[in-house]
Amino acid sequence: MSKRENLLYLKEQMKALGFRPKKSLGQTFLLKMDIARKMVNLLEIEKGERVLEIGPGFGALTTFLLEKRKEIDFSLTLIEKDRKLHAFLKKHFPEVEIVCGDVLTFELSGFDKFISTLPYSITTPLSLKMFELKFKKAVFMYQKEFAERLTARHKDKNYSRIGLKGQFKLNIEKKGTYSPLNFYPRPEVHSTLLVLSPRAQPPFQVEDQQFFFLIVDILFAYRRKTIQNCLKKEWEKIVNYLNTNCKTSKTKSHIEETISKLPYLKKRGEHLKPEEIGKLSDKILDFLH
Ligand code: SAH
Repeated sequence: MSKRENLLYLKEQMKALGFRPKKSLGQTFLLKMDIARKMVNLLEIEKGERVLEIGPGFGALTTFLLEKRKEIDFSLTLIEKDRKLHAFLKKHFPEVEIVCGDVLTFELSGFDKFISTLPYSITTPLSLKMFELKFKKAVFMYQKEFAERLTARHKDKNYSRIGLKGQFKLNIEKKGTYSPLNFYPRPEVHSTLLVLSPRAQPPFQVEDQQFFFLIVDILFAYRRKTIQNCLKKEWEKIVNYLNTNCKTSKTKSHIEETISKLPYLKKRGEHLKPEEIGKLSDKILDFLH
């Protein structure tokens, strides 16, 4: 179907359902079917794999997934939070397993592959969930600004904690940026397509990944503060982590003493390369263990 035909189809379906798109659920639907086809092809589905489509809406991606299933035998599950859309999908795709629910509380560990034009309202929590998950590949359409933060490197203006953590856990490839004209209702921003897959090895070693991520959060929480001031301000988080996870009994004075021995104190978090933050977090652990 052409973009115009698709727009008419969507409007018709919406009218019949008494459906009005909700911003709170990030409901903007794909009009350009070339993009849907490209996304399904990028997923490189193989025989026997378990695929989850998140937020299928009116089924733009689902249609191509089902076309693929004529060639390759794989299992497909859809999860859609909107009840009206869930009812629509059940009617139009009776051969597919469709869960009515919230992907943020759904067990993701049984799936090999994920595909979605992501509802923008859940990009951050879902991405954080994906960092800790074992899977093969995810093809996600993101809001462009979010995709830029996720892929930004040291010294880029969008260098951020989500990108730092994401790139530590995942390989992330950009596959194109698309204008709002490809969606209905038109979003306010461009969209960027990313392919994610877990890294076989992290880009550098750290002693404790969870502690490293905590230090990343602390250093990026106050962008204008020096590293020294960030650590001093958040000393309680460090103490809580160590006392809970490493069974120590550290206090504020232990942290203050440790901070005085660290490198990079007068710099800001964004000045450090990821591996330098890794070194910093290892040093804190070594001093306090
Ligand atoms: N993939 C479709 C729809 C994209 S709009 C297309 O490209 O046309 C985003 C979809 O995600 C909507 O259908 C919305 O209802 C659904 N959604 C929003 N939040 C969700 C959540 N937490 N869990 C599952 N689905 C959700």
